[in-house]
Amino acid sequence: MAAKIIDGKEIAKSILEDIKEKISSMNEKPGLAIVIVGNNPASEIYVNMKVKKANAIGFHCEKHALSEDATQEEVMKLVDKLNQDRKIHGFIVQLPLPEQINEKLIIDGILPHKDVDGFSPVNLGNLVNGNNVLVSATPQGCMELIKSTGIEIAGKYAVVVGRSNIVGKPMALLLLQKNATVTVCHSRTKDLAAETRKADILVAAVGKAGLIKKDMVKENAVVIDVGTNKVNGKLLGDVDFEAVKEKAGFITPVPGGVGPMTIAILLQNTLKAMELTEKIWN
Ligand code: NDP
Repeated sequence: MAAKIIDGKEIAKSILEDIKEKISSMNEKPGLAIVIVGNNPASEIYVNMKVKKANAIGFHCEKHALSEDATQEEVMKLVDKLNQDRKIHGFIVQLPLPEQINEKLIIDGILPHKDVDGFSPVNLGNLVNGNNVLVSATPQGCMELIKSTGIEIAGKYAVVVGRSNIVGKPMALLLLQKNATVTVCHSRTKDLAAETRKADILVAAVGKAGLIKKDMVKENAVVIDVGTNKVNGKLLGDVDFEAVKEKAGFITPVPGGVGPMTIAILLQNTLKAMELTEKIWN
């Protein structure tokens, strides 16, 4: 039987409506700033989508663009300014950054309670401790998508393909918190198919179009495709969607699966950051 398609757009829409409702009675609106450095076309698209959604639900949203040849000092100065800005409750620095910029130092410079991407060492450390303050939006969004299927996560065998600090690792930790038995695969995994075939829940976060084939997936598995790959002008996931949907129980499409959730959760994190900053300032 063909898999049920998990509609990320619909789930994201309901999260956004919920936020809109919550902020409708507030005098001060949540303030989000997005820093973009350089002219990476994909980053430009993602940032504009985030700004558009933030404005549409009534946030105060600022885009700060620095040139491709910006220096470390210029980016740090902007980070410091946003750390101090009372209108801004949370901000992100869109990755990747041009090669002259040390990404780690920039992320480390963002105050943890304003780090709405959840990339800072403090927020990652909180997640490891099981104290979810501001958690990376994409894995959090994936958890919402898994939850929407109604399956019980506890006791399931989950496989995450990819171990980046922004997707793979936090994803594995969130699944572990929900008592799944978790395996993390990466480029040095010896037999990827042997691992993925065991997965009741399979999350692909690699960046290789169609890497996950039908014979790598367990019958009735929940398959979450984080990958975004531009191939001949088309956006494709890491999963061979057309074939895998004939075998999986649930599957996310690309586009329309994880992507819209990332933005919705980023805005949810900003609302949370507003509560955190207000506790600190007032
Ligand atoms: P990274 O490049 O940081 O990490 C990719 C991971 O995949 C690495 O851990 C790498 O292993 C692993 N990998 C590479 N090749 C293989 C392979 N053949 N088999 C198994 N594992 C492999 O990517 P990100 O985590 O930042 O992003 C992953 C994907 O998700 C990208 O397509 C990105 O565009 C997308 N993405 C989508 C978002 C959305 O909102 N939809 C948000 C964020 C990301 P190793 O560590 O050994 O190198």
